[in-house]
Amino acid sequence: MSINEASRAYGAQKSSIREISAYANARKAEIGAENVFDFSLGNPSIPAPDAVRASIERALALPATQLHGYTPANGLPAVREAVAASLCRRFGEKTASAGDLYLTCGAAASLSITFHAIVNPGDEVIVIAPYFPEYRVWIETSGATCVEVMADAKTFQIDVAAVAAAITPRTRAIVINTPNNPVGSVYSRENLDALAAALRDAEKRLGTTITIVSDEPYREITYGAEVPWVPALYDRTIVCYSYSKSLSLPGERIGWVLVPPTNPEHDDLVFAVAGAGRKLGFVCAPALFQRVLADCVDCPTDVEAYAENRRALTDGLARLGYEFIKPEGAFYLWVKALEPDAGAFFERAKALELLPVPSDSFGCPGWVRVGYCVSHETIVNSMPAWEKLAASYR
Ligand code: PLP
Repeated sequence: MSINEASRAYGAQKSSIREISAYANARKAEIGAENVFDFSLGNPSIPAPDAVRASIERALALPATQLHGYTPANGLPAVREAVAASLCRRFGEKTASAGDLYLTCGAAASLSITFHAIVNPGDEVIVIAPYFPEYRVWIETSGATCVEVMADAKTFQIDVAAVAAAITPRTRAIVINTPNNPVGSVYSRENLDALAAALRDAEKRLGTTITIVSDEPYREITYGAEVPWVPALYDRTIVCYSYSKSLSLPGERIGWVLVPPTNPEHDDLVFAVAGAGRKLGFVCAPALFQRVLADCVDCPTDVEAYAENRRALTDGLARLGYEFIKPEGAFYLWVKALEPDAGAFFERAKALELLPVPSDSFGCPGWVRVGYCVSHETIVNSMPAWEKLAASYR
């Protein structure tokens, strides 16, 4: 049989987020969309800015061979220059130049490329649980082992002592995601400083190097919290970004990897990122949307609708006595299940047409993720079901 067993297994395993979302769609067809409260997917509910459409219309005037032609593997130089200039305006001069950027098909490709660029078989990569489930797939397929370290049980900030304890001579990288999916937390400057100090300490003690892979697709979706620029706190950082959330373009597959100029292995890493892109076939990100970036890289993200949803959801659930982590960013609420088994809690919610995602999918027991990138009415109209759910535990 000509089958790669690992690939077959990844394909056969169901993503519970996708399964819940498929169930929600089937259920909506059965009983009406207004009767199903689907909080499963992280699909932005606000439209892309008008500037995106205007940019596409302008691009359509290009000769077709240019519009649809290949770009360089790492992206159009003018687009990388525009992205780098924007990063310099936001995070300081010399934050990036065009040569430090590799344009990708979204954060999924940015992260896969990054892991393939930095690890060798037998290496270990730490993730902070709860975590975006695809991290494990991308880490394992790069040849490394995924090592889970639980976040602080109360604050869901990084438990720096636990990270320090998990570091071994094989630890090559740690993935951080702030603002965070699934918790909605934003790591404080103190927390990131403490992490940086612990990593430097371990590097010195073990004579190894440890890279921070900073996965930042939610950077612009915050409700007032500061999101520190990680390369300014720790040199050995690679930043992975996507416009899936900030410009509401998840289906268009556009993002980047940045090897900051301050990274001590910058030149080799730029080659390794290009080589990993080549290895994985992630060359020449979608050309039309590269061009959109040149026009829209500084478009502000309209977070007002998410902020209103957050207010309605947190006020409503607090009134009903639910415990949750107050989200500082992204569009997810991390709610404590009313029994230790998040799967059983989910089943009771499902019977009331409430569809969050049980926390076991994210490597952590006892919670559910409620995605509030939905219509405002979905949140308001779901409250009686949340009330019935809470009442069923009294
Ligand atoms: N990282 C996190 C934390 C995410 O939530 C997602 C998508 O939801 C991704 C990466 C992948 O993003 P993209 O759709 O740009 O590939």
